[in-house]
Order: sequence, then structure tokens, then C-alpha cells
Amino acid sequence: NIKNARSANNEAVQVIVRCRPISEKEKLSGCCEIVDVYPNRGVIEVKNPRAKSDNERIKMFTYDAVYDSRSSQQCLYDEMVRPLVASVLEGYNGCVFAYGQTGTGKTHTMEGVVGDSDMQGIIPRAFEQIWSHINRTTGVEFLVYARYLELYMEDIRDLLKSKSKKQLVLREMAGGQGGVYVTHLHSQTCKNAADMMKTMRIGNKNRTTGVTNMNEHSSRSHAIFQIAIEMAEENNSKSVKIGKLNLVDLAGSERQSKTGASGDRLKEATKINKALSSLGNVIYALAENSSHVPYRDSKLTRLLQDSLGGNSKTIMIANIGPADMNYEETIITLRYAYRAK
Ligand code: ADP
Ligand code: MG
Repeated sequence: NIKNARSANNEAVQVIVRCRPISEKEKLSGCCEIVDVYPNRGVIEVKNPRAKSDNERIKMFTYDAVYDSRSSQQCLYDEMVRPLVASVLEGYNGCVFAYGQTGTGKTHTMEGVVGDSDMQGIIPRAFEQIWSHINRTTGVEFLVYARYLELYMEDIRDLLKSKSKKQLVLREMAGGQGGVYVTHLHSQTCKNAADMMKTMRIGNKNRTTGVTNMNEHSSRSHAIFQIAIEMAEENNSKSVKIGKLNLVDLAGSERQSKTGASGDRLKEATKINKALSSLGNVIYALAENSSHVPYRDSKLTRLLQDSLGGNSKTIMIANIGPADMNYEETIITLRYAYRAK
């Protein structure tokens, strides 16, 4: 296993890039690979397939960590996500985002192949880490619950209670502490990792119900799996800690001008791109320790504001593909991730 150059650092915001393998389809249509990944240096190099001269041919970007097409799910988890989940288990908040154009591996990275111990992604691995910690910890009482929601444009959908007619509204907590909550959102109490898996499966099923084209749907909505862990020391009622973990499979970042969208579709696309750039601005402001963090610019960042900043930790995983066909989108993603840092 290749160790990443800067994986050991403890910064509040970490931005990493993962490149998926070339697909059969891309191979068959004669695509070439234009992405080189250098894990030891945290560097990604991209060759411009249409460059006229050598000095415009290669663009180079540096990140906290980079993962190539052979990188395992376990390696990425152990190096990057395990320390974040460990701090959630100490009462801090954390967010993991998967960003990238549709088809680059966001869902593979977040969820992977559920039930396959090698190929399972971040979400099931987080369940395992959380419950193995709880099961070996004595003297602490844990209360764990999960929520699963989808954000589509300005609408919040509860993936655990999809038939509920109650309106889900984003509210600020009283007292001006920066806390937010969603009215009527279902919290599922979980007693073990299997409960959490079941909760995830129910949510995924609801995500696809009534959707004609799942790929299209998932490329236009953000899926947020939230785990809250309350920890109370036995014999010490005052010491209650709460850690919150947000695992987010973002909407596809592709520019819709390319797909020839118009009318409602274009409006929708503009909203998505706005939310993603607002998230980028928030992460950038946090990474720069800026005094103004623009949470209010989108519903996505408002929803997650108590888990972004403060003592929270954030990992942004930018996913890219290796094919020349996607050169422009790949560069846009790499710039986004670079700027986010
Ligand atoms: P997205 O959610 O960004 O649209 P997916 O996660 O659905 O993309 O990935 C698209 C395809 O590429 C899927 O068939 C997935 O299994 C495959 N894939 C993505 N990343 C990897 C990877 N790191 N290794 C192997 N296959 C991958
Ligand atoms: Mg997906």
C-alpha cells in the first residue's frame, strides 16, 4: 500500500482527489488516459489532449492526498476517514463530501459495494468503526441515531419517511449558537451496525421510488446520511457529549451547458452549480481561517453549518475520471478542489 505524503496531518479541512480506473466503455470508444497520480507528493498531473505546445500540455495540482485508480477502499478509509470518525466519537462534528461529475465514483467512494468487505465504501466502514468503538467502550452510555435526507434544489426530502406529508423546513436553533435543524425529520435510533445498514438500505430504496431515471436523479440531488452519537458517562450526568457525522454524496458537478439543458432543466442546473460553488466558498473560507464564512449562500451549507467550521473536521473528496474525453470537466473539478483549499 502506498502511503500518502500528507495523510497524517491533523488539519480541520482536508481536500483529496481520487481518480477512478478507465471504464470498458471508455476503452472501447478509444479514449486515452490523461491523468497521472503521484501519491508520495500529493500531486495530480493532467495532459491536455489538444495542447498545441509542450508547455501548455501538462497541468499540475497538489492536494492533501491523492488516490490513483488502484487505490483500495480500505486504504482511503484508514488514511483519511478513520481519524475523522475517531474525533466524532470524542464529541466533535465531521463531514465527508464526495464531489465530481456524474460517473467519476462518488457513490463508489461513499457507499461502494455494500456487503463486500473489500469493495464497501466509506459509509458502511464508518458504521463498523462506530460500533466496534461502542462495543469495546465501558462506562459510557451511547445513544445513536441516523437520519437520511436528500436535498433537491430547495426541497428537503426525508429518505426514511418518504410518504410523510409533513413539511420539512430548515430552522435555526434558538439562542443564536449557529445550530440548525429540519422540522419533522425522522431520527432512527440504531442499536448496532446492522440497524444502520438497514436504515441506509431503506433510505436508498426510497431514493429511487418514483424516480424514472436513477442516474439522472442522483446526479441532481445531494444525499446526506447523518449519524448523531450521544455519549454520557455513567455516574456523571453532566458529561454528555454529542458527535455528528455527515456523509454526503453530492449532486454531479457537470456543467449543464455541455448537455444542452434549457428551461427548467437549466434553472435546476444553475441551482446545483450555485450550491456546489457555495460549498467550495465555505470550505475555502474555513481552510483560510477567514473571519467570514458564507454559510447563508445556499441551503446545503446552511443545513450543514454546525458541522462545518468550529471544532469540526471536513474531508472533501474530489472524484475524477482518467479519460481525455472529460478533460475540461476534470480540470474544472481539480480547480474547484484546489480552490477549496
Ligand atoms: P458517481 O456516483 O460519481 O456518478 P459511480 O460511483 O456510480 O459514480 O461510479 C461510476 C462507475 O465507475 C461505477 O460502475 C463504479 O463501480 C465505477 N467506479 C468508480 N470508482 C471506481 C473505483 N475507484 N474502482 C473501480 N470502479 C470504480
Ligand atoms: Mg452516484
